[in-house]
Amino acid sequence: MMESFDILWSVFSDFANPKKRVFAGYLLLSLIIAFGWLLFVRREKLSKAVAKILDKKVFFSSSAIADYKIFVINRLFSLFISPLLITHLAIATAIFYALHEQSFIPQGYFDDANKGLVIALFSLAMFLMDDFTKYLVHRWMHRWPLLWAIHKVHHSAETLTPVTVYRVHPLEGVLYGLRGTFSHGVVLSVFFFLFGNLVDIYTVVGINVLVFLFHVTGSNLRHSHINISYWPWLEHILISPAQHQIHHSVAEQHFDKNFGAALAIWDWLFGSLHVSESGQEIEFGLDASQRSSGDNLFVLYWGPLADMGRVLRRRYRKYVQKLGAMPSVAKK
Ligand SMILES: [Zn+2]
Ligand SMILES: [Zn+2]
Repeated sequence: MMESFDILWSVFSDFANPKKRVFAGYLLLSLIIAFGWLLFVRREKLSKAVAKILDKKVFFSSSAIADYKIFVINRLFSLFISPLLITHLAIATAIFYALHEQSFIPQGYFDDANKGLVIALFSLAMFLMDDFTKYLVHRWMHRWPLLWAIHKVHHSAETLTPVTVYRVHPLEGVLYGLRGTFSHGVVLSVFFFLFGNLVDIYTVVGINVLVFLFHVTGSNLRHSHINISYWPWLEHILISPAQHQIHHSVAEQHFDKNFGAALAIWDWLFGSLHVSESGQEIEFGLDASQRSSGDNLFVLYWGPLADMGRVLRRRYRKYVQKLGAMPSVAKK
């Protein structure tokens, strides 16, 4: 009995964890921001704002219901897989010792630096590294057919709710987990090496103030039907909810735009930025050629593996054809 309660608690614990986007406090703040936006910026009546935010067609759509089921399945999956994943500390330790091998900068060289400054620098480095690697991996997921097969699951959502952030294939979860481990490990080990004892364990386990700011300013609204936009100049620096909704659009002009998580500067730098449009009405999901059987869970979990198999077989066939063509070249 106790054990099943523990499992149940673990599945839903993200709602009580301030490190997670769907923490109840952040959800509540997102709700307040959505109301504020509709009432004071869009100048809509209260009754209309309530009806829009709590739209049954969104929260009880077959896409949203699939999201809720995927949430539970993926949380169960991660409970079993996470102990198998390599830890941040293992990576950090490996890099820490690798740094000992170099002789340009001795260990603890900046040991007497100002502690406040070091913590601020550490938080900034952690945030930038995390956000940049998210951008990079997300971009690869759209570019490489093998990874797109997996990422398609997230884009198959036809309505967006804060739970849609969990609508990912477990393999995508594993890949993002490894990315997080790598990026945190690199920053941690470099800071431990340079600043020694100044980066204490509290800095490491606490919530990064920049991540906290990202969540309290409505990170949950990027997966929602409330298209909050920023000023165009700000949308070159921070990704607005409307910009992530563009990322989910079926329209061709929106393909491969706005891969960023919190910062828009990566999209701006690498030419994938798309600022929001006034009166933006977006249809979410995959275009007709990519659509499979919608929200069927079996297809959502098994489909990507079958697609990956197809991509690999195609590659293999091309490779064999190339090999077969070689002797005829040699005959000439
Ligand atoms: Zn994407
Ligand atoms: Zn998304």
